[in-house]
Amino acid sequence: MPNSFEANLDKYAELAIKVGLNLQAGQALLIDAPLESAPLVRLAAKHAYQGGARLVEVFWRDEALTRIRFQYAPRDSFGNVSEGQAHAARGYAEQGDAFLGISGQDPDLLRDQDPALVAEYQKALAEKFRPVNELAMRDAYNWLVLAAPSKQWAARVFPHVPTSEQTARLWDAIFSACRVYESDPVAAWQQHVRELSLRRDELNQKRYDALHFFASETDLTVGLVEDHLWVGASTPTQRGLLFVGNMPTEEVFTMPHRARVNGIVTATLPLSIRSRVIDKFTVTFENGRVTNAVASNDQAVLDELLATDEGARHLGEVALVPHSSPISKTGILFFNALFDENAASHLALGKSYPTNIRNGSHLSEMELAQRGANDSLIHLDFMIGSSEMNVDGIRADGSREPIMRNGEWAFALGQ
Ligand code: ZN
Ligand code: ZN
Repeated sequence: MPNSFEANLDKYAELAIKVGLNLQAGQALLIDAPLESAPLVRLAAKHAYQGGARLVEVFWRDEALTRIRFQYAPRDSFGNVSEGQAHAARGYAEQGDAFLGISGQDPDLLRDQDPALVAEYQKALAEKFRPVNELAMRDAYNWLVLAAPSKQWAARVFPHVPTSEQTARLWDAIFSACRVYESDPVAAWQQHVRELSLRRDELNQKRYDALHFFASETDLTVGLVEDHLWVGASTPTQRGLLFVGNMPTEEVFTMPHRARVNGIVTATLPLSIRSRVIDKFTVTFENGRVTNAVASNDQAVLDELLATDEGARHLGEVALVPHSSPISKTGILFFNALFDENAASHLALGKSYPTNIRNGSHLSEMELAQRGANDSLIHLDFMIGSSEMNVDGIRADGSREPIMRNGEWAFALGQ
């Protein structure tokens, strides 16, 4: 590949360190990354050290090893998870050090494996990392998730492109979505963050009691918790450091009340979960709880997911993304939540972000639960937006106004 790829990769790494993490001199940085992303990781480390990082440590992942485990390990061993990484990650988190996660998984990695074993494995991992994830969801430190293609992922996204070009095509889509091609990517991101923040602030002033989503296959009312906060673009850590947790990001999101969701909702994009892809599914909620979930394929995977714990049957996030988002405009289905959730309005089953409630980072689990927050080992985003989706905001007095019509914002900023 020509030098221009190297140059773009370097800009991408610089964005990750300077805008995403906003890494500060004196911080340490933990990176969790697939082996294939080593060139990106090295550039990120360079920018981190140039910015004064005192240590960059990397946990390398290898999907081929995961497959080997599923092929050959004893069937009763999938609850075993390494202690070391979870322990180390917790150390970084408690210090307030930075974390960079690089996503790039093969959406079909464990397609031919027993869903019950995959569920046991994922649950054991989630349990082990629960304390770290809890700190991340309270923004105790600056963190960022971005993507780097693997061959398998690129092949899934571009099956009709010659094999030798698939990875380059996926890099191109990622660079484009992450504004790497702008003449000044850092400035372009600052502008984008400003615009999303205005939308967020506007929604925060509205103080809606509930949102009503309606389209041909969806009629769902999502009650919001009192003192909910819309969050988007950049957020402050508990120490006040502004960071952007996802690249790309096009969403503003807040906290549904775990017991106040009613109606039916149909996913509008295929869902990549637990190394499988569910093409379509419909979920019915009664008083916040999923009472029925029907998948077009892999029903067992969806059922296992909902059976993770009680909170897996309740919502933890509601997010608004216009249909004209740059990710949606690419027309590419990425089979990766980082991209697909920024192409459409979405909901998440499972744990809610404490930061979506005023002063929530400082509330105990019990206090959060009393306010209507949801707790679970999972947090699974699924896309419900489309060019047909309408959203109304409903106030406590029952009056309503349009927020979105046919997938687009129904009010201009500053009105
Ligand atoms: Zn989201
Ligand atoms: Zn989410």
